[in-house]
Amino acid sequence: MRKITCHCEQEFSVDIPETVDLDKNPAILSDVATGTFLACVCPACNAELHLDLRTTFEWPSKGIVLTLIPELERLSLLSGAIAPRAGETFVAGYAELADRLAVLSAGLEPVAIEALKLRLLERARETNPANSPTLIFERSTESGDLVFHAHGVRDGEVAVTTVPRRIYDAILEEYGKNPDNEDFKALVNGSYISVRNVIVED
Ligand SMILES: [Zn+2]
Repeated sequence: MRKITCHCEQEFSVDIPETVDLDKNPAILSDVATGTFLACVCPACNAELHLDLRTTFEWPSKGIVLTLIPELERLSLLSGAIAPRAGETFVAGYAELADRLAVLSAGLEPVAIEALKLRLLERARETNPANSPTLIFERSTESGDLVFHAHGVRDGEVAVTTVPRRIYDAILEEYGKNPDNEDFKALVNGSYISVRNVIVED
């Protein structure tokens, strides 16, 4: 049980585990994608709360240990104050969790995806310097093209961007040949792999 405090100041406990096994509970993947994982209703005011409690996702068949760090602890994560276990990687906030689990489910390489996001964001900035959207990977299509949602292009609107598979494949090939290239290394801060290590959104 984990203790929650609602905006209405009501304290209550929720039965959300601190560690989940995605091999044993694969339905959690779709719960994360639809936003129902870590959601609960306050018993006092009935508000629906979307939490980003620290939770570790173990995925033994893929050799993955991924831990969600609450958005409020992002700075601790960036400053290296949160120490990983062996093989553990981090995401900060629920949106990054949904993004990374979708990337891993699709069998894609997180560093190559973050490098692709960087190119897309740099292009968006060339078009409009005031433009700093957040890109979230959604899924790959039947033909393997990559679908991203861009949040923050216009207030409250979500734009859909589909990137041809060959662009991802070219980046992946480059990464395979030269993983220590500065452009790739800049995306990796300890156990935190993110375009946000390079570009800071508003
Ligand atoms: Zn409440």
